[in-house]
Amino acid sequence: MELTLSIGCPIRCDYCPQDLLLSKYKGTRFFTIDSFKRAFETGQVPATVNCTFMGTSDPYLCKDATKIMKWALMERGHMGSVSTVLTYCSYEDIDALAEMKDRLTDTIIHCPAADDRMPGLKVTPEYVEKFKYAVRVLRQNQDFVLQVYNTDPHPAIHQIWAESGVHIPRFGLHDRAGHLPNLQGPYVRHATRPFPIQICGKLWNGHAFPNGDVGRCCNEWAMENIWGNLYETTYYDMYHSQKFRDYVKSLEGPNTDPRCRHCMDSFHQCNPEDRSKGYNCEGH
Ligand code: SF4
Repeated sequence: MELTLSIGCPIRCDYCPQDLLLSKYKGTRFFTIDSFKRAFETGQVPATVNCTFMGTSDPYLCKDATKIMKWALMERGHMGSVSTVLTYCSYEDIDALAEMKDRLTDTIIHCPAADDRMPGLKVTPEYVEKFKYAVRVLRQNQDFVLQVYNTDPHPAIHQIWAESGVHIPRFGLHDRAGHLPNLQGPYVRHATRPFPIQICGKLWNGHAFPNGDVGRCCNEWAMENIWGNLYETTYYDMYHSQKFRDYVKSLEGPNTDPRCRHCMDSFHQCNPEDRSKGYNCEGH
């Protein structure tokens, strides 16, 4: 389950429709350790659900991020993954990620870019020191990667990366399921997929927000497909709700326009071979 621990991100990457989210979202803007526990316990989120601490903002903008991660992963027994730009992390938060390494399937540092697409991320000498520390401490975590989006890492960290030998995948850029139609660049993927639309594995991941709402997936920026609220409905009931069934039915077309129709970020659990084709295959 994708988790947005706080609403609004001052990094303001040009590939995140933050203004859209801010215009649609209603309710409390941060999870606290208490509200997060209440949401997961009231919603009876199964421990088999993977907690993806990424969502629509850096997880460490939430001051209880490490407490929440430790509770979910080490006490409640979920597996998880984390992506952070490090800016809002303390050294203690980084140490905690190393401590949780057996519970994390992915640990990702979203690196500052060489160009200006992450305007709020300031690469200061203090940042570079923290980056060095994080690479040293977290390199034992499984699937630890330094990630950029179709660009080079910032020159100030390039050398650290080069000497580290840590994998640096260039993630594909897409228009967030049609929410950023004006996003430009040679590798940006836009799509209008033909009906019937193959069901995407991410449809079963969900995306939880601090107000308790659970939306469609990691591309839920407009709060448009909300299956229920963890403070009121169980996770099981959300995925057996009429809203969820109607959405799945809408993928058949032809007189519907589900968000998945405009998405190049899908992966298809039904056909694992398709997972690596997420950004490349036109029409799937
Ligand atoms: S196809 Fe895109 S919008 Fe639809 S569930 Fe998958 S990631 Fe989300």
